[in-house]
Amino acid sequence: MKPLGPIPAGYDAIEGELSIGGKGARALIEEAGGSPAFIYSKDLLAKRVVDLRAAMPDRLKINYAIKANPFAPLLEFMSPLVDGFDIASGGELNMLQQLDFDLKRVSFAGPGKRDLELESAIRAGVTINLESENEARRALDIAEKIGAEPRLAIRVNPDFELRGSGMKMGGGAKPFGVDQDRVAQLAREILSAGADWRGLHIFTGSQALSEDALIEAQANVLDLADQLAQEIGQPLPKLNMGGGFGIPYFHGDEPLDIVAIGDALSDRFDTLPVTLSETELCIELGRYLVGEAGVYLTEIVDRKESHGVTYLVTDGGLHHQLAASGNFGTVVRRNYPAAIATYFDAEPAEEVNIVGCLCTPLDRLADKAHLPRAEVGDLVAVFCAGAYGATASPSDFLGQGAARELLI
Ligand SMILES: *Cc1c(COP(=O)(O)O)cnc(C)c1O
Repeated sequence: MKPLGPIPAGYDAIEGELSIGGKGARALIEEAGGSPAFIYSKDLLAKRVVDLRAAMPDRLKINYAIKANPFAPLLEFMSPLVDGFDIASGGELNMLQQLDFDLKRVSFAGPGKRDLELESAIRAGVTINLESENEARRALDIAEKIGAEPRLAIRVNPDFELRGSGMKMGGGAKPFGVDQDRVAQLAREILSAGADWRGLHIFTGSQALSEDALIEAQANVLDLADQLAQEIGQPLPKLNMGGGFGIPYFHGDEPLDIVAIGDALSDRFDTLPVTLSETELCIELGRYLVGEAGVYLTEIVDRKESHGVTYLVTDGGLHHQLAASGNFGTVVRRNYPAAIATYFDAEPAEEVNIVGCLCTPLDRLADKAHLPRAEVGDLVAVFCAGAYGATASPSDFLGQGAARELLI
């Protein structure tokens, strides 16, 4: 047997079935238009933001990094709950433009921004987190050409990183941001070009489950921001402190203690240096806000034995769940939280392998899982599916197509 990851809080059974928003799994699949489907819970999304705000200092703004989940109804639902959106492509900017969202609340990071993307961002009044000197000069040239005042911030590549981070995005040579010792010089160029200077963006990593590591990274970010503001020679208008709050995916993972993080941050905010005393301070979170609010439901289409092993074959798979299959930046595959959604409160009765319908041995949803007995027609639930599921998986692989999505 191999353990499954921990099922996030907030999921109950109604008449034996996993229920979300008061509806059972079968009814949800019907409402979504069929299996497989991602179901996102409004209640859980809202609760996450409320709990986070209660834990963090009032002054801290909370942005949603939409690459975690850009499903349009979810963006609309999140819009009044968060202070801003962070995007990482012109495509994501288009999504927000269709939603009638105040684009002054949006910032745009990410390497390799093309001229057209810079131009649409500048026209829309989006803050651009510049990833290099070259990008800064291109943005300034484009702004001059179209006669606009660009809102520019610099993404810093700090010398430190977020310890224990699932994806390292700072420290040493990186494609992201401007090395910290070259930031002040570039900031002065931007200021003297007459741009609307929007300060710094310091992102140190992702998917951290250690409070201590996050507290340390935030302290380092504030120290570095102070040092850079002094070198630039003026207080910072804005500091995006990055994010990195992780969620438990695997057996043994513990949820983050956000109260501890909020308390440490409040202490720091009480004694900020003058360079940061009037600064707009924010964090940007993706998976922490939406990951645990989503479930992937997929129907069992075959049940078979091979050499004494039972396989439950579903109509879903890695084309929607690349991360859960173990093929999105993991070295050793471990099981995500999963369950038989149609027997959600039943006792485990057998060991099974749950696989997807793709003709590749990579398509695994759960290995050696101890679960209630399930038959063809039952539904499997994979949890932590609210982030990096639908849009981070190769849905066209094998001609399978996209999953349905439903916000409930
Ligand atoms: C991907 C990304 C995020 C979101 O990361 P999560 O791990 O989902 O919180 C935030 N900011 C930047 C710059 C990113 O690239």
